[in-house]
Amino acid sequence: MVGAGNAALAAAASAREQGARRVVVLEKATRELRGGNTHYSGGLLRFAYDSSEDLRSLVPDADKQVPGFYAGVEPYPREAFRKDLLRVTEGRTDPELAEILIGRSQDTVRWMARQGIVMEPAVSLSAVRVGDILKWSPGAVIRARHEGVGLSAMWFDIVEALGVEVRYDTSAVRLTQDARGRVTGVVVRDGEGFHEVPGKAVVLGCGGFEANPEWRARYLGRPWDHAKVRGTRYNTGDGLRMAMEIGALPHGQWTGCHSTPIDASAPPHGDRKLTDKTNRLSYMYGVLVNVRGRRFFDEGEDFQFYTYAKLGGIILNEPSGVAHQIFDSKVTGLLEGRFDPTIRDGLRTKGLELPKSNWAQRLDTPPFMAYPVTGGITFSFGGLRVNERAQVITTSWTPVPGLYACGEMVGGLFHTNYPGGTGLVSGAVFGRLAGAHAAGA
Ligand SMILES: Cc1cc2nc3c(=O)[nH]c(=O)nc-3n(C[C@H](O)[C@H](O)[C@H](O)COP(=O)(O)OP(=O)(O)OC[C@H]3O[C@@H](n4cnc5c(N)ncnc54)[C@H](O)[C@@H]3O)c2cc1C
Repeated sequence: MVGAGNAALAAAASAREQGARRVVVLEKATRELRGGNTHYSGGLLRFAYDSSEDLRSLVPDADKQVPGFYAGVEPYPREAFRKDLLRVTEGRTDPELAEILIGRSQDTVRWMARQGIVMEPAVSLSAVRVGDILKWSPGAVIRARHEGVGLSAMWFDIVEALGVEVRYDTSAVRLTQDARGRVTGVVVRDGEGFHEVPGKAVVLGCGGFEANPEWRARYLGRPWDHAKVRGTRYNTGDGLRMAMEIGALPHGQWTGCHSTPIDASAPPHGDRKLTDKTNRLSYMYGVLVNVRGRRFFDEGEDFQFYTYAKLGGIILNEPSGVAHQIFDSKVTGLLEGRFDPTIRDGLRTKGLELPKSNWAQRLDTPPFMAYPVTGGITFSFGGLRVNERAQVITTSWTPVPGLYACGEMVGGLFHTNYPGGTGLVSGAVFGRLAGAHAAGA
Protein backbone atom coordinates (compact mmCIF):
# COMPACT_ATOMS: atom_id res chain seq x y z
CA MET A 1 0.00 0.00 0.00
CA VAL A 2 1.33 3.44 -0.83
CA GLY A 3 0.02 6.04 1.64
CA ALA A 4 -1.47 5.73 5.10
CA GLY A 5 -4.77 7.58 4.92
CA ASN A 6 -8.29 6.23 5.15
CA ALA A 7 -8.22 4.66 1.66
CA ALA A 8 -4.90 2.81 1.86
CA LEU A 9 -5.47 1.63 5.42
CA ALA A 10 -8.92 0.35 4.44
CA ALA A 11 -7.17 -1.45 1.58
CA ALA A 12 -4.59 -2.89 3.99
CA ALA A 13 -7.28 -4.22 6.35
CA SER A 14 -9.26 -5.62 3.43
CA ALA A 15 -6.20 -7.33 1.94
CA ARG A 16 -5.44 -9.04 5.25
CA GLU A 17 -9.08 -10.06 5.61
CA GLN A 18 -8.94 -11.64 2.13
CA GLY A 19 -5.86 -13.63 2.98
CA ALA A 20 -2.87 -11.51 1.96
CA ARG A 21 -0.03 -12.91 4.06
CA ARG A 22 2.15 -9.83 4.07
CA VAL A 23 0.94 -6.26 3.73
CA VAL A 24 3.34 -3.32 3.92
CA VAL A 25 2.19 0.30 4.07
CA LEU A 26 4.69 2.87 2.77
CA GLU A 27 4.08 6.34 4.17
CA LYS A 28 5.94 9.46 3.11
CA ALA A 29 5.26 11.35 6.35
CA THR A 30 6.98 10.79 9.65
CA ARG A 31 5.03 8.97 12.33
CA GLU A 32 4.24 12.33 14.00
CA LEU A 33 2.73 13.74 10.78
CA ARG A 34 1.03 10.56 9.62
CA GLY A 35 -2.57 10.16 8.53
CA GLY A 36 -2.82 12.29 5.40
CA ASN A 37 -5.93 14.38 4.85
CA THR A 38 -7.85 11.78 6.81
CA HIS A 39 -6.34 13.12 10.04
CA TYR A 40 -7.60 16.67 9.29
CA SER A 41 -11.08 15.60 8.21
CA GLY A 42 -14.34 16.02 10.04
CA GLY A 43 -14.73 12.24 9.84
CA LEU A 44 -18.21 12.66 8.35
CA LEU A 45 -19.53 9.62 6.46
CA ARG A 46 -22.21 9.99 3.77
CA PHE A 47 -23.98 6.77 2.89
CA ALA A 48 -27.38 5.50 1.78
CA TYR A 49 -29.91 4.02 4.22
CA ASP A 50 -33.62 3.32 3.99
CA SER A 51 -34.50 4.11 7.57
CA SER A 52 -32.86 5.63 10.61
CA GLU A 53 -33.13 2.14 12.12
CA ASP A 54 -30.34 1.11 9.71
CA LEU A 55 -28.06 3.37 11.77
CA ARG A 56 -28.81 1.74 15.10
CA SER A 57 -26.07 -0.88 15.01
CA LEU A 58 -23.50 1.76 13.96
CA VAL A 59 -24.35 4.23 16.73
CA PRO A 60 -26.17 2.13 19.34
CA ASP A 61 -25.91 4.86 22.00
CA ALA A 62 -27.08 7.68 19.77
CA ASP A 63 -30.39 8.10 21.58
CA LYS A 64 -28.54 8.53 24.87
CA GLN A 65 -26.13 11.09 23.42
CA VAL A 66 -28.82 12.89 21.42
CA PRO A 67 -32.33 12.23 22.74
CA GLY A 68 -34.74 11.59 19.86
CA PHE A 69 -31.90 10.87 17.41
CA TYR A 70 -33.57 8.03 15.48
CA ALA A 71 -36.88 9.87 15.25
CA GLY A 72 -35.14 12.99 13.90
CA VAL A 73 -33.13 11.40 11.08
CA GLU A 74 -34.79 11.19 7.66
CA PRO A 75 -34.19 8.22 5.34
CA TYR A 76 -31.54 8.63 2.65
CA PRO A 77 -32.18 5.91 0.07
CA ARG A 78 -29.76 5.24 -2.77
CA GLU A 79 -31.89 7.32 -5.11
CA ALA A 80 -31.46 10.38 -2.89
CA PHE A 81 -27.67 9.91 -2.80
CA ARG A 82 -27.65 9.49 -6.60
CA LYS A 83 -29.69 12.66 -7.09
CA ASP A 84 -27.42 14.68 -4.81
CA LEU A 85 -24.28 13.46 -6.53
CA LEU A 86 -25.72 14.13 -9.97
CA ARG A 87 -27.02 17.56 -9.00
CA VAL A 88 -23.84 18.91 -7.45
CA THR A 89 -21.60 17.48 -10.19
CA GLU A 90 -23.90 18.92 -12.88
CA GLY A 91 -24.59 15.42 -14.17
CA ARG A 92 -20.93 14.66 -14.80
CA THR A 93 -20.18 12.04 -12.16
CA ASP A 94 -18.98 8.78 -13.75
CA PRO A 95 -22.15 6.66 -13.62
CA GLU A 96 -20.37 3.34 -13.09
CA LEU A 97 -18.17 4.62 -10.28
CA ALA A 98 -21.13 6.44 -8.74
CA GLU A 99 -23.14 3.20 -8.66
CA ILE A 100 -20.27 1.37 -6.98
CA LEU A 101 -19.89 4.15 -4.41
CA ILE A 102 -23.59 4.51 -3.65
CA GLY A 103 -24.48 0.82 -3.84
CA ARG A 104 -21.65 -0.22 -1.54
CA SER A 105 -21.72 2.80 0.77
CA GLN A 106 -23.78 1.40 3.64
CA ASP A 107 -22.22 -2.05 3.49
CA THR A 108 -18.75 -0.51 3.55
CA VAL A 109 -19.52 1.74 6.53
CA ARG A 110 -20.78 -1.39 8.34
CA TRP A 111 -17.56 -3.13 7.35
CA MET A 112 -15.55 -0.21 8.77
CA ALA A 113 -17.48 -0.59 12.02
CA ARG A 114 -16.72 -4.32 12.07
CA GLN A 115 -13.05 -3.55 11.60
CA GLY A 116 -13.19 -1.40 14.72
CA ILE A 117 -14.02 2.14 13.55
CA VAL A 118 -16.23 3.56 16.28
CA MET A 119 -18.87 6.06 15.14
CA GLU A 120 -21.02 8.78 16.68
CA PRO A 121 -23.76 11.21 15.59
CA ALA A 122 -22.12 14.12 13.75
CA VAL A 123 -23.81 16.70 15.93
CA SER A 124 -21.59 19.71 15.26
CA LEU A 125 -21.41 19.05 11.51
CA SER A 126 -24.82 17.84 10.52
CA ALA A 127 -27.36 18.85 13.15
CA VAL A 128 -29.15 22.19 13.33
CA ARG A 129 -31.36 23.09 16.27
CA VAL A 130 -34.76 24.35 15.19
CA GLY A 131 -36.79 25.24 18.23
CA ASP A 132 -36.45 22.28 20.56
CA ILE A 133 -35.48 19.66 18.02
CA LEU A 134 -32.30 18.76 16.20
CA LYS A 135 -32.69 18.39 12.43
CA TRP A 136 -30.15 16.37 10.48
CA SER A 137 -28.84 16.69 6.97
CA PRO A 138 -30.01 13.42 5.38
CA GLY A 139 -27.26 10.96 4.46
CA ALA A 140 -24.50 12.66 6.41
CA VAL A 141 -25.41 12.14 10.05
CA ILE A 142 -22.67 9.86 11.35
CA ARG A 143 -18.98 10.45 11.73
CA ALA A 144 -16.01 8.58 13.10
CA ARG A 145 -15.58 9.09 16.82
CA HIS A 146 -13.31 12.10 17.45
CA GLU A 147 -13.58 13.04 13.78
CA GLY A 148 -10.60 12.60 11.46
CA VAL A 149 -8.08 12.49 14.29
CA GLY A 150 -9.98 9.55 15.76
CA LEU A 151 -10.57 7.87 12.40
CA SER A 152 -6.89 7.96 11.51
CA ALA A 153 -5.78 6.73 14.94
CA MET A 154 -8.33 3.89 14.84
CA TRP A 155 -7.19 2.78 11.37
CA PHE A 156 -3.56 2.63 12.51
CA ASP A 157 -4.55 0.56 15.55
CA ILE A 158 -6.62 -1.76 13.37
CA VAL A 159 -3.97 -2.44 10.75
CA GLU A 160 -1.21 -2.82 13.33
CA ALA A 161 -3.34 -5.40 15.15
CA LEU A 162 -3.75 -7.20 11.82
CA GLY A 163 0.02 -7.47 11.50
CA VAL A 164 0.43 -4.86 8.77
CA GLU A 165 3.86 -3.23 8.74
CA VAL A 166 3.81 0.57 8.40
CA ARG A 167 7.07 2.16 7.19
CA TYR A 168 7.17 5.90 7.88
CA ASP A 169 9.42 8.44 6.22
CA THR A 170 9.30 6.26 3.13
CA SER A 171 8.31 7.85 -0.18
CA ALA A 172 7.31 5.77 -3.15
CA VAL A 173 9.03 7.26 -6.18
CA ARG A 174 8.56 4.80 -9.04
CA LEU A 175 6.63 1.66 -9.97
CA THR A 176 8.52 -1.37 -11.23
CA GLN A 177 7.18 -3.72 -13.92
CA ASP A 178 8.19 -7.02 -15.48
CA ALA A 179 8.55 -7.56 -19.22
CA ARG A 180 4.84 -8.37 -19.51
CA GLY A 181 3.84 -5.09 -17.87
CA ARG A 182 2.86 -6.55 -14.53
CA VAL A 183 3.62 -4.25 -11.59
CA THR A 184 6.21 -5.93 -9.40
CA GLY A 185 6.70 -3.36 -6.67
CA VAL A 186 7.87 0.18 -6.02
CA VAL A 187 11.15 2.00 -5.71
CA VAL A 188 11.18 4.00 -2.49
CA ARG A 189 13.32 6.72 -0.98
CA ASP A 190 13.90 6.45 2.76
CA GLY A 191 16.62 7.39 5.25
CA GLU A 192 19.01 4.98 3.56
CA GLY A 193 18.48 6.15 0.00
CA PHE A 194 16.68 4.51 -2.89
CA HIS A 195 15.78 0.85 -2.98
CA GLU A 196 13.13 -1.50 -4.31
CA VAL A 197 10.23 -2.93 -2.33
CA PRO A 198 8.85 -5.92 -4.26
CA GLY A 199 5.19 -6.89 -4.06
CA LYS A 200 2.67 -9.12 -5.82
CA ALA A 201 0.42 -6.10 -6.14
CA VAL A 202 0.61 -2.38 -5.41
CA VAL A 203 -2.31 -0.31 -4.14
CA LEU A 204 -1.87 3.43 -4.60
CA GLY A 205 -3.71 5.45 -1.96
CA CYS A 206 -1.41 8.45 -1.75
CA GLY A 207 -3.78 11.30 -2.40
CA GLY A 208 -4.18 13.93 -5.08
CA PHE A 209 -1.97 16.89 -6.02
CA GLU A 210 -3.55 19.51 -3.78
CA ALA A 211 -0.31 20.22 -1.89
CA ASN A 212 1.77 20.74 -5.04
CA PRO A 213 1.67 24.41 -6.15
CA GLU A 214 3.24 23.65 -9.52
CA TRP A 215 0.61 21.04 -10.36
CA ARG A 216 -2.14 23.33 -9.04
CA ALA A 217 -0.92 26.05 -11.41
CA ARG A 218 -0.59 23.51 -14.22
CA TYR A 219 -4.04 21.93 -13.95
CA LEU A 220 -6.21 24.32 -11.93
CA GLY A 221 -4.59 27.53 -13.23
CA ARG A 222 -4.50 30.89 -11.50
CA PRO A 223 -4.92 31.66 -8.61
CA TRP A 224 -4.56 28.13 -7.28
CA ASP A 225 -0.80 28.26 -6.89
CA HIS A 226 -1.53 30.66 -4.00
CA ALA A 227 -4.20 28.54 -2.32
CA LYS A 228 -3.88 27.51 1.30
CA VAL A 229 -3.94 23.74 1.77
CA ARG A 230 -6.52 22.59 4.31
CA GLY A 231 -4.86 19.27 5.04
CA THR A 232 -1.59 17.41 4.60
CA ARG A 233 1.46 18.86 2.87
CA TYR A 234 2.43 15.45 1.48
CA ASN A 235 -0.20 14.91 -1.22
CA THR A 236 1.85 16.22 -4.12
CA GLY A 237 0.60 14.02 -6.95
CA ASP A 238 3.35 11.37 -6.62
CA GLY A 239 1.02 8.42 -7.11
CA LEU A 240 -0.69 10.02 -10.10
CA ARG A 241 2.71 10.75 -11.68
CA MET A 242 4.04 7.23 -11.03
CA ALA A 243 0.95 5.61 -12.52
CA MET A 244 0.80 7.88 -15.55
CA GLU A 245 4.50 7.24 -16.18
CA ILE A 246 3.61 3.61 -16.86
CA GLY A 247 0.62 4.44 -19.01
CA ALA A 248 -2.32 4.91 -16.61
CA LEU A 249 -5.34 6.70 -18.03
CA PRO A 250 -6.27 9.99 -16.35
CA HIS A 251 -9.95 10.41 -15.57
CA GLY A 252 -12.31 13.06 -14.25
CA GLN A 253 -12.04 16.81 -13.88
CA TRP A 254 -8.37 17.76 -13.79
CA THR A 255 -9.29 21.45 -13.62
CA GLY A 256 -11.46 20.89 -10.55
CA CYS A 257 -10.99 20.51 -6.84
CA HIS A 258 -12.74 20.53 -3.50
CA SER A 259 -12.16 23.83 -1.74
CA THR A 260 -13.94 25.58 1.08
CA PRO A 261 -14.17 29.01 2.71
CA ILE A 262 -11.59 29.12 5.47
CA ASP A 263 -10.33 31.79 7.84
CA ALA A 264 -8.23 34.26 5.84
CA SER A 265 -5.43 33.93 8.40
CA ALA A 266 -5.33 30.11 8.33
CA PRO A 267 -1.82 28.65 8.01
CA PRO A 268 -0.51 27.59 4.57
CA HIS A 269 -1.07 23.90 5.38
CA GLY A 270 -3.46 22.16 7.74
CA ASP A 271 -2.85 22.57 11.47
CA ARG A 272 -2.68 19.17 13.22
CA LYS A 273 -4.68 20.43 16.20
CA LEU A 274 -7.17 22.82 14.54
CA THR A 275 -7.80 20.29 11.72
CA ASP A 276 -11.00 21.43 9.94
CA LYS A 277 -11.87 24.14 12.47
CA THR A 278 -10.55 26.86 10.15
CA ASN A 279 -13.68 26.30 8.00
CA ARG A 280 -16.10 29.25 7.87
CA LEU A 281 -19.35 27.67 6.72
CA SER A 282 -22.19 29.85 8.02
CA TYR A 283 -22.34 32.05 4.90
CA MET A 284 -25.93 31.07 4.13
CA TYR A 285 -27.14 32.90 7.24
CA GLY A 286 -25.66 36.26 6.18
CA VAL A 287 -24.16 37.90 3.12
CA LEU A 288 -20.82 37.34 1.45
CA VAL A 289 -19.04 40.31 -0.15
CA ASN A 290 -15.68 40.70 -1.85
CA VAL A 291 -13.07 43.32 -0.87
CA ARG A 292 -14.94 45.84 -3.08
CA GLY A 293 -18.10 45.28 -1.08
CA ARG A 294 -19.93 43.43 -3.87
CA ARG A 295 -21.78 40.15 -3.52
CA PHE A 296 -20.67 37.44 -5.94
CA PHE A 297 -22.41 34.23 -4.83
CA ASP A 298 -25.99 33.21 -4.04
CA GLU A 299 -25.44 32.42 -0.36
CA GLY A 300 -28.81 30.65 -0.21
CA GLU A 301 -28.39 28.53 -3.34
CA ASP A 302 -28.61 25.26 -1.41
CA PHE A 303 -27.78 23.67 1.93
CA GLN A 304 -24.23 24.07 3.14
CA PHE A 305 -23.23 20.47 2.35
CA TYR A 306 -24.07 21.07 -1.32
CA THR A 307 -22.33 24.42 -1.82
CA TYR A 308 -19.37 24.62 0.58
CA ALA A 309 -17.02 22.48 -1.51
CA LYS A 310 -17.14 24.81 -4.52
CA LEU A 311 -17.26 28.11 -2.65
CA GLY A 312 -13.57 28.15 -1.68
CA GLY A 313 -12.55 28.36 -5.32
CA ILE A 314 -15.15 31.01 -6.07
CA ILE A 315 -13.75 33.16 -3.24
CA LEU A 316 -10.19 32.58 -4.33
CA ASN A 317 -11.06 33.93 -7.76
CA GLU A 318 -12.38 37.23 -6.33
CA PRO A 319 -10.00 40.24 -6.01
CA SER A 320 -7.19 39.45 -3.53
CA GLY A 321 -8.75 36.02 -3.03
CA VAL A 322 -10.49 37.29 0.09
CA ALA A 323 -14.13 37.91 1.00
CA HIS A 324 -16.09 38.81 4.11
CA GLN A 325 -19.01 36.93 5.62
CA ILE A 326 -21.27 39.46 7.33
CA PHE A 327 -23.90 38.60 9.91
CA ASP A 328 -26.11 40.51 12.27
CA SER A 329 -27.02 39.56 15.78
CA LYS A 330 -30.20 37.71 14.71
CA VAL A 331 -28.12 34.79 13.57
CA THR A 332 -25.75 34.49 16.48
CA GLY A 333 -26.58 31.35 18.35
CA LEU A 334 -27.61 30.35 14.93
CA LEU A 335 -30.95 31.78 14.01
CA GLU A 336 -34.07 33.60 14.94
CA GLY A 337 -37.34 31.68 15.22
CA ARG A 338 -39.06 32.34 11.86
CA PHE A 339 -36.11 31.07 10.00
CA ASP A 340 -35.58 27.33 9.36
CA PRO A 341 -32.18 26.46 7.86
CA THR A 342 -33.12 22.81 7.43
CA ILE A 343 -35.59 23.49 4.62
CA ARG A 344 -35.03 25.47 1.45
CA ASP A 345 -37.47 28.14 2.65
CA GLY A 346 -37.74 30.16 -0.57
CA LEU A 347 -37.25 33.43 1.34
CA ARG A 348 -35.54 35.10 -1.60
CA THR A 349 -34.39 38.57 -2.47
CA LYS A 350 -36.32 40.61 -5.05
CA GLY A 351 -34.82 42.72 -7.80
CA LEU A 352 -31.18 41.85 -7.24
CA GLU A 353 -29.09 40.90 -10.24
CA LEU A 354 -27.55 38.19 -8.08
CA PRO A 355 -30.34 36.71 -5.95
CA LYS A 356 -30.11 35.12 -2.56
CA SER A 357 -32.47 32.19 -3.11
CA ASN A 358 -33.17 30.99 0.42
CA TRP A 359 -32.77 32.26 3.97
CA ALA A 360 -32.59 35.91 2.86
CA GLN A 361 -33.32 38.49 5.53
CA ARG A 362 -32.27 42.04 6.28
CA LEU A 363 -29.06 42.68 8.16
CA ASP A 364 -30.62 45.21 10.50
CA THR A 365 -29.84 44.14 14.03
CA PRO A 366 -26.53 45.27 15.45
CA PRO A 367 -24.00 44.37 16.55
CA PHE A 368 -22.83 43.18 13.13
CA MET A 369 -20.02 40.69 12.63
CA ALA A 370 -17.75 40.05 9.67
CA TYR A 371 -15.28 37.23 9.09
CA PRO A 372 -12.53 37.53 6.48
CA VAL A 373 -12.30 34.30 4.49
CA THR A 374 -10.29 32.86 1.66
CA GLY A 375 -10.48 29.62 -0.34
CA GLY A 376 -8.60 26.61 1.02
CA ILE A 377 -7.98 23.59 -1.21
CA THR A 378 -9.01 20.21 0.20
CA PHE A 379 -8.28 17.77 -2.61
CA SER A 380 -7.99 17.66 -6.39
CA PHE A 381 -10.72 15.96 -8.43
CA GLY A 382 -8.61 14.73 -11.36
CA GLY A 383 -7.38 11.17 -10.90
CA LEU A 384 -6.91 7.80 -12.52
CA ARG A 385 -9.47 5.67 -14.28
CA VAL A 386 -10.22 2.51 -12.31
CA ASN A 387 -12.62 -0.34 -12.95
CA GLU A 388 -15.05 -2.11 -10.60
CA ARG A 389 -12.12 -3.95 -8.99
CA ALA A 390 -10.26 -0.67 -8.40
CA GLN A 391 -7.68 -1.80 -10.96
CA VAL A 392 -5.89 1.04 -12.71
CA ILE A 393 -6.74 1.24 -16.41
CA THR A 394 -4.18 2.09 -19.10
CA THR A 395 -4.48 4.44 -22.03
CA SER A 396 -5.09 1.25 -24.07
CA TRP A 397 -8.21 0.70 -21.87
CA THR A 398 -6.87 -2.49 -20.31
CA PRO A 399 -6.07 -2.96 -16.61
CA VAL A 400 -2.46 -2.65 -15.46
CA PRO A 401 -1.83 -6.09 -13.94
CA GLY A 402 -1.05 -5.76 -10.25
CA LEU A 403 -1.92 -2.05 -9.87
CA TYR A 404 -4.87 -0.63 -7.92
CA ALA A 405 -5.88 2.85 -6.81
CA CYS A 406 -8.22 4.26 -4.19
CA GLY A 407 -9.21 7.42 -2.34
CA GLU A 408 -8.43 10.81 -3.81
CA MET A 409 -6.52 9.09 -6.62
CA VAL A 410 -9.73 7.76 -8.18
CA GLY A 411 -10.84 10.19 -10.88
CA GLY A 412 -14.32 10.70 -12.26
CA LEU A 413 -16.61 10.87 -9.26
CA PHE A 414 -16.50 14.57 -8.49
CA HIS A 415 -16.80 17.53 -10.83
CA THR A 416 -17.07 21.21 -9.87
CA ASN A 417 -18.59 20.33 -6.51
CA TYR A 418 -19.12 17.49 -4.07
CA PRO A 419 -21.69 16.37 -1.48
CA GLY A 420 -20.17 16.71 2.02
CA GLY A 421 -18.99 13.49 3.63
CA THR A 422 -18.43 11.54 0.40
CA GLY A 423 -14.62 11.47 0.29
CA LEU A 424 -14.06 9.14 3.20
CA VAL A 425 -16.76 6.70 2.13
CA SER A 426 -15.43 6.71 -1.43
CA GLY A 427 -11.96 6.02 -0.03
CA ALA A 428 -13.23 3.13 2.07
CA VAL A 429 -15.34 1.65 -0.76
CA PHE A 430 -12.54 1.67 -3.34
CA GLY A 431 -9.86 0.92 -0.74
CA ARG A 432 -11.74 -2.15 0.41
CA LEU A 433 -12.18 -3.30 -3.20
CA ALA A 434 -8.54 -2.59 -4.05
CA GLY A 435 -7.24 -4.48 -1.02
CA ALA A 436 -9.49 -7.48 -1.60
CA HIS A 437 -8.57 -7.83 -5.29
CA ALA A 438 -4.89 -7.12 -4.65
CA ALA A 439 -4.91 -9.97 -2.12
CA GLY A 440 -6.06 -12.34 -4.85
CA ALA A 441 -3.68 -10.97 -7.49
C1 LIG B 1 -9.85 19.74 6.57
C2 LIG B 1 -10.50 18.57 5.86
C3 LIG B 1 -11.76 18.14 6.26
C4 LIG B 1 -12.38 17.06 5.60
N1 LIG B 1 -13.55 16.57 6.08
C5 LIG B 1 -14.10 15.48 5.49
C6 LIG B 1 -15.24 14.84 6.06
O1 LIG B 1 -15.72 15.21 7.14
N2 LIG B 1 -15.76 13.77 5.39
C7 LIG B 1 -15.22 13.31 4.23
O2 LIG B 1 -15.75 12.35 3.66
N3 LIG B 1 -14.11 13.85 3.71
C8 LIG B 1 -13.53 14.91 4.32
N4 LIG B 1 -12.39 15.44 3.81
C9 LIG B 1 -11.79 14.80 2.63
C10 LIG B 1 -11.11 13.50 3.07
O3 LIG B 1 -10.39 13.75 4.25
C11 LIG B 1 -10.18 12.98 2.03
O4 LIG B 1 -10.82 12.89 0.79
C12 LIG B 1 -9.69 11.59 2.42
O5 LIG B 1 -9.17 11.61 3.72
C13 LIG B 1 -8.63 11.15 1.45
O6 LIG B 1 -8.16 9.89 1.87
P1 LIG B 1 -6.95 9.23 1.09
O7 LIG B 1 -6.60 8.02 1.85
O8 LIG B 1 -7.23 9.17 -0.36
O9 LIG B 1 -5.78 10.33 1.24
P2 LIG B 1 -5.00 10.82 2.53
O10 LIG B 1 -5.76 10.61 3.78
O11 LIG B 1 -4.56 12.22 2.25
O12 LIG B 1 -3.74 9.87 2.59
C14 LIG B 1 -2.75 9.91 1.58
C15 LIG B 1 -1.43 9.52 2.22
O13 LIG B 1 -0.46 9.28 1.19
C16 LIG B 1 0.80 9.74 1.66
N5 LIG B 1 1.68 9.92 0.50
C17 LIG B 1 1.64 10.90 -0.44
N6 LIG B 1 2.60 10.69 -1.36
C18 LIG B 1 3.27 9.57 -0.98
C19 LIG B 1 4.36 8.84 -1.52
N7 LIG B 1 5.01 9.24 -2.64
N8 LIG B 1 4.79 7.72 -0.88
C20 LIG B 1 4.17 7.30 0.28
N9 LIG B 1 3.14 7.96 0.82
C21 LIG B 1 2.68 9.07 0.20
C22 LIG B 1 0.47 11.00 2.41
O14 LIG B 1 1.48 11.33 3.33
C23 LIG B 1 -0.85 10.61 3.11
O15 LIG B 1 -0.60 10.06 4.38
C24 LIG B 1 -11.73 16.47 4.48
C25 LIG B 1 -10.45 16.88 4.11
C26 LIG B 1 -9.83 17.92 4.80
C27 LIG B 1 -8.43 18.31 4.39
